[in-house]
Amino acid sequence: MEQNKKKVSKGLLQSDDLYQYILETSVYPREPELLKELREATASHPENTSLVFFRAGMATAPDAGQLMTMLLKLVDAKKTIEVGVFTGYSLLLTALTTPEDGKIVAIDVDREPYDQIGFPIIKKAGVEHKIDLIESEAVPVLDKLLEQHENEGSFDFAFVDADKVNYWNYHERLMKLLKVGGIAVYDNTLWGGTVVMPVESTPEWKKPSRQSIMELNKLLAADTRVQISHAALGDGITVCRRLY
Ligand code: SAH
Ligand code: CA
Repeated sequence: MEQNKKKVSKGLLQSDDLYQYILETSVYPREPELLKELREATASHPENTSLVFFRAGMATAPDAGQLMTMLLKLVDAKKTIEVGVFTGYSLLLTALTTPEDGKIVAIDVDREPYDQIGFPIIKKAGVEHKIDLIESEAVPVLDKLLEQHENEGSFDFAFVDADKVNYWNYHERLMKLLKVGGIAVYDNTLWGGTVVMPVESTPEWKKPSRQSIMELNKLLAADTRVQISHAALGDGITVCRRLY
């Protein structure tokens, strides 16, 4: 028991320099050109500067993206779901990785960042035909997919990166939509490290999602339907593989 309480730190999170090292050594040199372009366009979009600069942090971290690319290939993903598009970094990554006849159901309450920043680059990549972008709250869209029985157990992969308060609602639906052996990846599951901060030192705007993420992490750990890996990439991602 005592041993469990000992501090063990051998992960990325011990130093920013180590994180930079990984990005510069292993991630950036292999990031596809158009993804790089989209990442940079997201970070430096001239319009709406204050808003976008604040929101630019929302884009999927490239190291997490690199693992996602690997997972998409490992399950040979053809049919996928994306909850939370923003400017489309993870969406483009998925579209570049899936086959010509791949299909991505992509959902966001606000399609403007995608239309403004992501779409021109996605078009240039020639992969827009794989994407069905739906501007809506995600829960009703997933419910509608489930109304059609042929969708049950038909998706290979899902990436969830939207409102944290609904992650569990997404998970419950994805457990029906994904194939057995299919993968769901949840983003921001370390929520800026706030999961281990006292609530008083958590910035006000991060508090509600901190609570949701902490609950999600416990629920996923106890969920026998999935195998999980909580990986310290980006802002934390949790990979779930449907077992039955
Ligand atoms: N995966 C994206 C980042 C997503 S940021 C990337 O790689 O860049 C989170 C997105 O979730 C935002 O664009 C926001 O509009 C969307 N979102 C928030 N709440 C939502 C909801 N209830 N349903 C669908 N999308 C939602
Ligand atoms: Ca995110």
